[in-house]
Amino acid sequence: MGVCFSLPLLPLTVMSAQYNPFTVAQQQLDKAAATLGLDSGTRELLRNPQREIHVSIPVKMDDGTTKVFQGFRVQYNTACGPAKGGLRWHEHETIDTVRALSAWMTWKTAVLDLPLGGGKGGVVCDPRVLSEGEKQRVARGYMRAIAHSIDPCWDVPAPDVGTTPQIICWMLDEYEAITGKRLPGIITGKPIPLGGSQGRGDSTARGGCIVTREAAKAYKMPLQGKRMVVQGFGNVGMYAAILGTELLGTKLTAVSMVDGALVNPNGIDVTALVDYFNAKATIVGFPGAEPLPLDELLLQECDLLVPAALEGVITAANVDKIKTKMILELANGPTTPEADAVLNAKGIIVLPDFLANAGGVTVSYFEQCQNAQNFYWDIEDIQKRLDKKMTDAFKAVYEMSQSKKTSLRDAAYLVAVAKVAQACKLRGWV
Ligand code: NAD
Repeated sequence: MGVCFSLPLLPLTVMSAQYNPFTVAQQQLDKAAATLGLDSGTRELLRNPQREIHVSIPVKMDDGTTKVFQGFRVQYNTACGPAKGGLRWHEHETIDTVRALSAWMTWKTAVLDLPLGGGKGGVVCDPRVLSEGEKQRVARGYMRAIAHSIDPCWDVPAPDVGTTPQIICWMLDEYEAITGKRLPGIITGKPIPLGGSQGRGDSTARGGCIVTREAAKAYKMPLQGKRMVVQGFGNVGMYAAILGTELLGTKLTAVSMVDGALVNPNGIDVTALVDYFNAKATIVGFPGAEPLPLDELLLQECDLLVPAALEGVITAANVDKIKTKMILELANGPTTPEADAVLNAKGIIVLPDFLANAGGVTVSYFEQCQNAQNFYWDIEDIQKRLDKKMTDAFKAVYEMSQSKKTSLRDAAYLVAVAKVAQACKLRGWV
C-alpha cells in the first residue's frame, strides 16, 4: 500500500485507542490533497463528514426489559450524488470507524465514476446474541430513527458486516410504512422479490476479475494457464476461484478458508471443489488436493495472489516471502502500509482494494437505477455494464499512475479525490 493510502480495516475488536481509522483516512486524504494542490478550504471540507446522525434506539427485549442501542449514520460527502454505504452491526462499532468507512466509500464511488457520494452507518450491538425478534425490533427502531434523514435521492444504506438480507427487508418495510409509499430504492442488497438486482452475488469477484484482465493487458502479463492462489472461500473468494478460471483462464493451485488450506500445483478442479464445499460446508478433506498449513497459503509461488478473507494479512512479517507477480485485493485492507511499500519496491503489481472490490457497490448502484425506473434488467445487461464501469475505472487509474509515476493505489486516490473536489467546486461550496 502507498505510504498513507491503505485501507487498514483492522478487526473492529482491535480498533482501540492506539489505532483510529478516521485519523488514517484523514492522513490518506491529506496526501492526495497535497499532490493535487487542493486549496485549504477544499481540504478542510473533504477531511470531515458533511453530516452525522447519532441515534438512541429503545428496544423491548425478549425478557421484557428495555435496552437502548446506539446507532450512527454518517453522510460523508454528497457532492457527486446521494450518500451510499453499508450498515454494520458490531459490538465494538465506533463513530470514528463509521466516519472512516464513509470517507472510504466516498473515494470508492468516485473512482468508479458512479453518481454517488459516500456514507456508512452502524448500530453498536452483537447480532449473534440477539433473537430474530430482537433483531427485527433493532432494525425497525434504527430505521424509524433515521428515516427522516435519508431518501432514495439523498442517502441509500446497504448491508455490511453483521447485517443480512432479512435485516435489510425489515428496514425497507419500516421505511415504506413511515412514508406510505413503495420506495425500494431507499436501500440496496434486497432479495430479488423486493426489488433486488440480478448479478449481485458474484459482482465483487467479477469486478475484480475484470480489473485483473485489464491490468494483465496493460502490464503485458498474460494470465492464461497461470497459477492463481485464493485466500478465503466465502462470498467473494469462491466466486473469485470460479471466475478466475472462467474469465481469466487461470488455474487455481491453492485455496484456503478458516478451517484449512489446500494445494495442487497441477490445478484444483474448481467445480468439484464448489460441489464438495456445498455438501460439507468446508474445503477440508477435498480429495483433489493436498492439505497445506494455513499460514503457508499466501507464501505459495503463483502469478496472481487473491486475498479475499481478512484485513491485514500481508504484513512486514511475511511480505518478503510472497512470490507472486500480481495481487488482486478483494478483501478490504489486506496489505499493511509497510508491506505495500515492499511490494511496490519489488515491482509486484497491486490492484488496490477500493478499485478491485468495487464491483459490489457498482451492482448496488445498478439496483438503485432499476428501482428508480421500476424496470428490471437481465443478467446480461448487468454484466455488460459492470464490465464497462470496471474497465473504464481501471484505465483512468492506470493512466494516472503512468502520468504521476505512482502506484495504482496512490493513483486511485488521486482520481477519486480530484473528482469529489471538482464536484464541490462546481457546486460553489469551496
Ligand atoms: P465471507 O465471510 O463470506 O468469507 C470470508 C472467508 O474468509 C471465509 O471462507 C472464511 O473461512 C475465510 N477466512 C476467515 N479467516 C481466514 C483465515 N485466517 N485464513 C483463510 N481464510 C479465512 O466474507 P466475504 O463477503 O467473502 O468478504 C471477504 C472480504 O471481502 C472482506 O474483507 C470484505 O470486507 C471484502 N469485501 C466483500 C464484498 C462483498 O460483496 N461481499 C465487497 C467488498 C469487499
